[in-house]
Formats: sequence, structure tokens, C-alpha cells
Amino acid sequence: MLWLQAATAAEPAPVWRADLTDIRQLAGMIPGPRPLRINVIKVAESRRTKNFAVKGLPAEPSVQARTAYQIVYADGTVMVDTGMDLATHKFFGRGADEPYFPEAEARVAQALDKAKAIIVTHEHGDHIGGLIRSAHFAELAPKTVLTRAQLDTLINAPQMPELRPTAEMAARLRVIDYDGTFAFAPGIVLIKAPGHTPGSQVVYVALQSGKELLLAGDVAWHMDAVRLNRPKDAPWIKEPSELMAAELDWLNRLDSTENNLAIVISHDEEQRRAYIGQGVLGDGFE
Ligand SMILES: [Zn+2]
Repeated sequence: MLWLQAATAAEPAPVWRADLTDIRQLAGMIPGPRPLRINVIKVAESRRTKNFAVKGLPAEPSVQARTAYQIVYADGTVMVDTGMDLATHKFFGRGADEPYFPEAEARVAQALDKAKAIIVTHEHGDHIGGLIRSAHFAELAPKTVLTRAQLDTLINAPQMPELRPTAEMAARLRVIDYDGTFAFAPGIVLIKAPGHTPGSQVVYVALQSGKELLLAGDVAWHMDAVRLNRPKDAPWIKEPSELMAAELDWLNRLDSTENNLAIVISHDEEQRRAYIGQGVLGDGFE
């Protein structure tokens, strides 16, 4: 029967998978009260047509929010993503006609100072620029937890040269490495989701209320991409299509089956407004 074993072994492993049941168990593995709520803030906007975010949709105007999140516990906060300074905003090219909100970025900087921990969905400038380019980097670094893949990309292939940390800066950061999933804090699970960048991860949060949120970063740029299960169509982004398809498909299935779970897309401005209106996300930082 050796041939049978060989046939089984040759069966290709799925390119990517995640299991919500497993993630829920991990979310309860670290004892302690779960978070109370999640706040969102918009530090800038990008103006791009919808077809870039959702392949095949019309090239109609679409506002992309550039956001950061604050997970609030009774006794402290965890930041997810760090905003960005004006110079990083301008890097994204269309800076002159794209709004930047300095007072919102100042709120992010305050929130980073106050936070107990800082994590990022991925290592792109609009998500990590507020940390790397912060005047308070030395104070922020020891409470920042990056993945090995995130730090490696920042050092070896940063999106822009200004994001590359010096060896001294890199040594101050905390670095973890995990396969699949990682229990980060009570109610918080990191889910490795490489593709958009090598270090991309999705952050699952289970609140004390029982509500669940999935901070999906840039796996998609608009919730319509999840609903329609369609990839981005942005030639300047190099994403392994099989990985992205598997991740998008998972989000799509969760969206249609998990009524208690809110998928949060970093750059979806329409969704940000809707979630604030529905009380799913708090408007601004505390
Ligand atoms: Zn982004």
C-alpha cells in the first residue's frame, strides 16, 4: 500500500487556511477580562477609483480612509496600526489633492504614548509610519510587538527607504514569530495572513459584550471585495494571487455566516462611517 501513502503525501496542502473555532478558543486562552470596545480614527484620505479595490467594478470615484485602531480594556489600551506622518502621506504620491488630518494624527501619537502595547496589521507606511518615524520611537519600541516577517521586510525590502529601521532601532523592538495563529492578549488573536505584504496579519478581537471583530488590514481595500469575493486590481501591488484568494474566500464565508462578527477593512471609508453609526466602532480615540 505504499503507493497510496505516496499519493496522500503528494496531495497539495491548502495555500492558506484559518479556523474560527480554533481562533475563538485561543482568544480565551490568556486569562483576564476581555476588551470593552474598539475605536477608529482617520488620519488621511486617498482618492482612488473603485476598480482598484474591487476588480471589475466601475472606475467611479472612491474615498479610501487611512486609519488606526485603539482596543480599549478596563485597564489600558492596545493600538493596532500607528497612523503616519505628513511626509509618509505625501509619499503615496497624490498627496497634494488628498487630505491629511494633522489633529487626528496628533491623537494617534497621544494614543501610542498611552498604549500598553502596539501591534500592526502590516508593515506598509500608512500603518507603521507613525511608529517608525515617531520622535518617541525609543519609548514606543519596547511596547511594540512586530512579527519576524514584518521586521525582516522593513529591514530588507521596506515600502519606502524612510521606513527602514536602523540596527539600533530594530534591536529595541519586540519581535515574535508564529505559525498560523497567536494568542496575544485576553480576547485578541493574531492570524498570519501573508500576501498583501509578507508580514500581514489579521487581528481577531472578542469583546466582553460577546461581539467579535476582525481587523482585516489590507487583505481587501473595500468590503465590496469581500462581499463579491473579488481581488484588488491594482497593478502596483504585487500580491500572490492564490494566497489572497484563500484569505478573501475565508472572509467572504465568515461575512455570510457569522452574524455576530464584524469584518473591519482598514481603508473602507463607507464601512468606517457605517460602523460608527451602528456603534460597532467608536469614533476617535480616548
Ligand atoms: Zn494600507
